[in-house]
Amino acid sequence: MTRRALITGITGQDGSYLAELLLAKGYEVHGLRRRASTFNSARVEHLYQDPHDPETRLFFHYADLTDESRIVRLLRRIQPDEIYNLAGQSHVGVSFDEPEYTGDTVGLGAVRLMEAIRTAELDCRYYQASSSAMYGTAPAPQSEDTAFRPTSPYGAAKAYAHWQTGIYRQGYGMFAVSGILFNHESPRRGETFVTRKVSRAVARIQAGLADYLYMGNLDAVRDWGYAPEYVEGMWRMLQADQPRDYVLATGQSYSVRDFVVAAFEHAGLDWEKHVRIDERYLRPTEPSALIGDATRAEAELGWKAQVHTDQLVQIMVDADAAALEHEGKPWVDRPRNWPPA
Ligand code: NDP
Repeated sequence: MTRRALITGITGQDGSYLAELLLAKGYEVHGLRRRASTFNSARVEHLYQDPHDPETRLFFHYADLTDESRIVRLLRRIQPDEIYNLAGQSHVGVSFDEPEYTGDTVGLGAVRLMEAIRTAELDCRYYQASSSAMYGTAPAPQSEDTAFRPTSPYGAAKAYAHWQTGIYRQGYGMFAVSGILFNHESPRRGETFVTRKVSRAVARIQAGLADYLYMGNLDAVRDWGYAPEYVEGMWRMLQADQPRDYVLATGQSYSVRDFVVAAFEHAGLDWEKHVRIDERYLRPTEPSALIGDATRAEAELGWKAQVHTDQLVQIMVDADAAALEHEGKPWVDRPRNWPPA
């Protein structure tokens, strides 16, 4: 029997890689997309299949996580075996500007989905995209047992959704799990996230299209992995015998400064000549070092990050340099050996 998956946030970085992975595994994939006045499906455009073709296994549905009745109707119609909740306002900095909307989509959005599963009386597995931002100032390295101390509206909203996921698991016997994912990046990362902002600026400076990169806090310490590997971890969590939460991380710490230096060095440029600090990019509060301990995922799921930050920097800078040649044309990166056989 063909397994059926529903991905909220399919047009995002992770959603696009996950859709590729599940299609390669033979799933029928349904993705929620938001209505927008502009084109917002560039990351999944290459996956498009004609809905009139009887062989088609990828379907898009307009929906928004703020619209409960629409979600219930869709779940009744699609009857998914697995739901991956990846949607929401995912930018920490923007969450300080839009704390209410962030709470609505990231926090309540998860509850709406799980309530919709109950209302539609579905027997399905649910994945919640939890985040290392929930740890905030908790001491590193952080594992599944570390207490949350979020420092942003985004981190607080994710912590709310995380606890709710546990409550639905314990209270209603739902196979509901949270993947606590540390930062994971790729050439498909949104252009306002720090890693992509850096890789894009380096490519443009190298090509003579820009002179400066304006940054906020260079001392922030993060654990950056490669997104395609992380979506495979999500899938493994839903194939486990028992529902359990897992951290996915590389376990390596890298400061924003380290990332910047490596990116400029890879392009043969002197970072100090091109990087300027703009205090507008500083946030009201910052987490301390976020470094993940993914021991449980390795022991129980056989998942371990293979691509570490130094390689990730090169993948992203090279991809942005290549993308400049495709400026104005649809372009999507194709990772080597992806999706895995
Ligand atoms: P992206 O920002 O790339 O994608 C977010 C997706 O959510 C997009 O498809 C977006 O649609 C959609 N979306 C936003 N608001 C709504 C809404 N109200 N209703 C329906 N859809 C909506 O995030 P990533 O792919 O990087 O991350 C996936 C998930 O994992 C997110 O929940 C994120 O918070 C979480 N996460 C990410 C980490 C990372 O390092 N990448 C780390 C830990 C957790 P549109 O394309 O129209 O904007």
